[in-house]
Amino acid sequence: NLRKLGVGGIKVFDPHLDSFLKERHHLRQALHKAIEHSSLSLVFQPVVPSLRSQPYKMEALLRWRDDEFGQVSPTVFIPIAEESGLIVPLGRWVLHSACVTALDWPNKCVICVNVSIHQILSGSLLADIQSALEHSGLAPSRLEIEITESVFAQDIDYLSSVLRAVRDLGVRVAIDDFGTGYSSLAYLRRLPVDTVKIDRSFINELDLESQKFLFSIVTMARGLGFYIVAEGVETRQQKDLLLGLGVDYIQGYFFSKPIDLAASSKWLADQLDERVGQP
Ligand code: C2E
Ligand code: MG
Ligand code: MG
Ligand code: MG
Repeated sequence: NLRKLGVGGIKVFDPHLDSFLKERHHLRQALHKAIEHSSLSLVFQPVVPSLRSQPYKMEALLRWRDDEFGQVSPTVFIPIAEESGLIVPLGRWVLHSACVTALDWPNKCVICVNVSIHQILSGSLLADIQSALEHSGLAPSRLEIEITESVFAQDIDYLSSVLRAVRDLGVRVAIDDFGTGYSSLAYLRRLPVDTVKIDRSFINELDLESQKFLFSIVTMARGLGFYIVAEGVETRQQKDLLLGLGVDYIQGYFFSKPIDLAASSKWLADQLDERVGQP
């Protein structure tokens, strides 16, 4: 389905489209190999609590460096993995490695894992989460899954039953890219969600109009009892504004870009040292 590939209209003889489709096919094969030969890795981006009594979080983000294509962005290869069904074994691998990694981190730090709607619709998410927790021995309360808001157009009853089962394990659930998708208040009411991550696009621009939106989103999310994370925070000005609005967590380049395993362990250890050092 060409439209699904994000190509407006069907122009079979368009040479650009032709090479686009070939490249996509190529990428899919390369991704297949990457999964088999485990040439994928995770990086981690800190999510910093406003209150010191709250645990730090780390979001796991997939990275793929291919011999032929070089570094491929997850915004390119995740959709390909979703179309081809590769997302299921891939997502399983991410869950397992993320939980194993989190076990070595200072106590109480929460690992956040992005989960695709296709993992949910395939029916394997719950078993994959259980197996990752059992295999690693990680406490369920230290795992949080992130689901992007755009998926709410899917079967809401099924989605909410899966999320409920996930939450019953003691795992936290977050809505990612909040504010960009289709979620009406009616959806939100029916989904068992702990946290909303306000999309970067609301934080990028700080003109008066955007600030009004930001303020309204934060007020609504707080009123509904969600924890609020602001993502994509790059400047001190943005950080101060968000702290002023009372968001619970801040994530973005201002604190740290996504970093590798060694750097993330060090980053966490430094924060905890600092905390202990506080008078
Ligand atoms: P996301 O989950 O919303 O992750 C945030 C993205 O914004 C990440 O891009 C991160 O590197 C980037 N980012 C963080 N802070 C800043 C900032 O201050 N400024 C700017 N400009 N960007 C910032 P990344 O790593 O390229 O990931 C893109 C998307 O790919 C993710 O968006 C997520 O939807 C998806 N993704 C990544 N890893 C996985 C995975 O393991 N499974 C699934 N299903 N999706 C994944
Ligand atoms: Mg995310
Ligand atoms: Mg996000
Ligand atoms: Mg995002």
